[in-house]
Amino acid sequence: MNATSLPISEIAGIVGRDNVLTAPEELCCYSYDASRIKGFPDCVAVPGSAREVSELLKLANRARFPVFPRGAGSGMVGASVPRLGGLVLTVGRMRRILELDPDNMLAVVEPGVVLGDFQKEVQRHGLFYPPDPASLPFSTIGGNVAMCSGGPRAVKYGVTRDYVLGLEVVLPTGTILKTGTRTVKGVVGYDLTRLMVGSEGTLGVFTRIILRLIPAPEGSRTLMAVFPRLDDAARAVCDIIRNRVIPSTLELMDQATLRVIENYLPLGLPTEAEAVLLIEVDGRERLLDEDAERVSRICAESGASGVEVAHTPEEKDRLWRARRSISPALRQIRSGKINEDVTVPRTRIPSLIRAVRGLSERHRLTIVCFGHAGDGNIHTNIMLDMGDPDERQRAEKAAEELFRTVLDLGGTLSGEHGVGIAKSPFFQWEVGEEGFRTMWSIKQALDPLNILNPGKMFVPDRAFFRSR
Ligand SMILES: Cc1cc2nc3c(=O)[nH]c(=O)nc-3n(C[C@H](O)[C@H](O)[C@H](O)COP(=O)(O)OP(=O)(O)OC[C@H]3O[C@@H](n4cnc5c(N)ncnc54)[C@H](O)[C@@H]3O)c2cc1C
Repeated sequence: MNATSLPISEIAGIVGRDNVLTAPEELCCYSYDASRIKGFPDCVAVPGSAREVSELLKLANRARFPVFPRGAGSGMVGASVPRLGGLVLTVGRMRRILELDPDNMLAVVEPGVVLGDFQKEVQRHGLFYPPDPASLPFSTIGGNVAMCSGGPRAVKYGVTRDYVLGLEVVLPTGTILKTGTRTVKGVVGYDLTRLMVGSEGTLGVFTRIILRLIPAPEGSRTLMAVFPRLDDAARAVCDIIRNRVIPSTLELMDQATLRVIENYLPLGLPTEAEAVLLIEVDGRERLLDEDAERVSRICAESGASGVEVAHTPEEKDRLWRARRSISPALRQIRSGKINEDVTVPRTRIPSLIRAVRGLSERHRLTIVCFGHAGDGNIHTNIMLDMGDPDERQRAEKAAEELFRTVLDLGGTLSGEHGVGIAKSPFFQWEVGEEGFRTMWSIKQALDPLNILNPGKMFVPDRAFFRSR
């Protein structure tokens, strides 16, 4: 498909000429996300309302062209990339916080609101919206809902799905649907809100989102615990939670990660240790020292050789510096990486990391593991030289073996980034044939012509062509 085969004047008639992009230098900005996957759109439309989104989708069904919803384009799996050409529908004109209701502890937002901006606004009212993907300075709430994003705070506070009360969503055929309620409780009918959250732009375009808010914690304490043995670190993670302290973050860095950071920025990290845990507790100010003390004692009893507690903002910042240095440190050792966000039950973290060490030796690759130990979401970074086809092939093989291992350990292929295009060849490994068929039948029921975000999740792209 190319621009001339899209009904540009009809698209412009719906959203206004100024909100349609067709020049190659403009389209280029919508041809990629944070993965290496690329696909050039034929046209970009920037609708300003649910009605305009609806009209665009009705037109797409009549004229049979694919439509790719897009927020900030920060996805890691190609989920917003217009692999097949067609129309990119971006929500850049819908970025208002429509309502912030402290008494009922909810907010209503448009999908283009940037998460970090929203969190700051909520904070001004003494409230808290916890989901914290690292992309919060630029990712949109619409994108967060579509990918069910989460971050380090998930161990205590959950992920985006735990905060979405309801949606206004334009279905692929153009019907405008309202789901959910403005109440914490609500059990009437199927839970269509949950179906939509995490649907990766394949089941509808969100135009309004009702979000649950909670009271802001009064303060926090940060600790770093050093473990000579990895198994002890994993045991400490389970013991802390079993002992009725749920940290707001519980991050793990393995030995390979510590060495890479120390090489990049000498911070005096214990590179002989098999693991380090970075822990934060939050809540009522008067309980924080007691909680930090309890976590510190549990770590020591589980085998930590040392525990440091930050008492000032400067000390806290120093402890977090190691964690924040991981990305730049990794960039120094190789030009590229395959960043997998696999997740296993907490108790299986040592088995996962040991299996990764085996992969690293067998495939002669540097692989570092770090991430959210509290919820078992371990970012496994397979480092590679992008210009070396042999290394690339070995890295891809290692990633495939990693997926098998994770599923054998009772885990999931993605705790954060989703399926998109990147993980679609492995989608069925996890959900099984029946899972795949059930989800595909939902997709077909809502999108009989496979107009919305085709070629994602359900591999192969054949799914798209089959329905033409
Ligand atoms: C540096 C960096 C750090 C990151 N850290 C994290 C992290 O810690 N945790 C995490 O979970 N993710 C993380 N991500 C991934 C990414 O930021 C999230 O998936 C984010 O939610 C995507 O938001 P977006 O606005 O960029 O969406 P996009 O990338 O534009 O789109 C993502 C998906 O959402 C769909 N979509 C977008 N808007 C809508 C809408 N209004 N209606 C329906 N579908 C829509 C798209 O079609 C696509 O399928 C990170 C990415 C980067 C680059």
